[in-house]
Amino acid sequence: MIKAIRGTRDLLPPDSALWNFVEKTVREVFAAYNFHEIRTPIFEATELFARSVGEETDIVSKEMFTWEDRGRAQSEKNQSLTLRPENTAGVVRAYIEHNLWERGLSKLYYIGPQFRRERPQKGRYRQFFQIGAEVIGPATSGSESPVRDAEVLEMLSTLLNRLGIKEWRLELNSVGCAADRACYNEALRRALDPVKDKMCADCQRRAVTNPLRVFDCKVPEDQPIIETLPRIGQFLDEPCCQHFAQVKEILRAVGVEFQENDRLVRGLDYYTRTAFEFTHGALGAQNAILGGGRYDGLSESLGGPAAPGIGFAIGEDRLVMSLGKSADEVFRKPDVYIAPLGEGMNNPSARLARELRGHNIIVELGDAVFKLKKSFEAATKAGAKYILIVGENEVKASAFALKNLATGEQKSVPRDQLAHAIQS
Ligand code: AMP
Repeated sequence: MIKAIRGTRDLLPPDSALWNFVEKTVREVFAAYNFHEIRTPIFEATELFARSVGEETDIVSKEMFTWEDRGRAQSEKNQSLTLRPENTAGVVRAYIEHNLWERGLSKLYYIGPQFRRERPQKGRYRQFFQIGAEVIGPATSGSESPVRDAEVLEMLSTLLNRLGIKEWRLELNSVGCAADRACYNEALRRALDPVKDKMCADCQRRAVTNPLRVFDCKVPEDQPIIETLPRIGQFLDEPCCQHFAQVKEILRAVGVEFQENDRLVRGLDYYTRTAFEFTHGALGAQNAILGGGRYDGLSESLGGPAAPGIGFAIGEDRLVMSLGKSADEVFRKPDVYIAPLGEGMNNPSARLARELRGHNIIVELGDAVFKLKKSFEAATKAGAKYILIVGENEVKASAFALKNLATGEQKSVPRDQLAHAIQS
């Protein structure tokens, strides 16, 4: 038997109804904040991720699904392609490619699969789904303003509340700008130099190449050392401090609770200033529902114009896990099962089904080869509320036997009153 690859999974009904419920709510909430959907390709040039997410990050250094694509003509060079491990890079690439800065501030969202070669475990997959949004534009469009950061965070809190997710926690930090990071990296290198030999192999490498990434380390033995390291907060320049202070001020004004976490640096290199995560206690070890932050220099590092921006990615798999709702609450079962009774009854049944479906009634249509007993079994299995019997006598009288499967109550209903009877 051929099975789904480890770390990937099938989404079956009724669970898929929960995902649809989430995505419908997301679209409604994001629309209220004037976000619009963007769809970018699932694979991109490998270089896009190396240059944005960062060569030294776990994502790029060990988790990407990358392959060499043979050039079609002999003269064409092979190209290295990668299944997208995240979607911000693709959105910023599209922003540059389509001159989106001409539109002022772009507020874009996406929903789709991402791919990382991670060790599969609960809440961590190799193909997983992210729902994300980006606010990006020239500085003149207000893209750099702390108002944007606070709006995005407030929108997320609204979304989680609307989905009925309780007990989420917003953790907030500022990772400063490029200049702050240069000073901070220097300080980190100095602090790590005498202790790095006691740390894991990854951290020993990070300490030299990209010391900030030491904070991504999950090795328990390294944590006491990491606790003693200087924090980025001490290295923020005045504009970065003020920006962060204003984000927090607006959040307080709109009543969104948050906790500052000065260890939060996120696992991607492009972040500047605001960085955040929403966590949820019920998720266990993989407790981050979503993460995001500002990326003011990203467009330029990809060869585009200056385009400050802020965005986030929600792990949809984890969002669904933290819903605290069962699929049955949102799964719509058939309102009625139509049971054609006897030869020649398929045609009038199909006509009736078409008519009722036009009234937004969910109809499951049986088959005249089924005996009545089998039709009842099929209707019960499908979870239908009613069964409607379509026999020769019913068609002649233009009145049909409608039976409520839960109560057993049965009545004869004239054709023109059927939709009403089923819906009430
Ligand atoms: P990141 O793109 O790493 O900032 O991740 C954003 C969110 O995506 C995380 O908070 C998780 O909810 C989700 N996520 C990241 N990696 C995975 C994965 N391998 N499986 C499931 N969800 C993931």
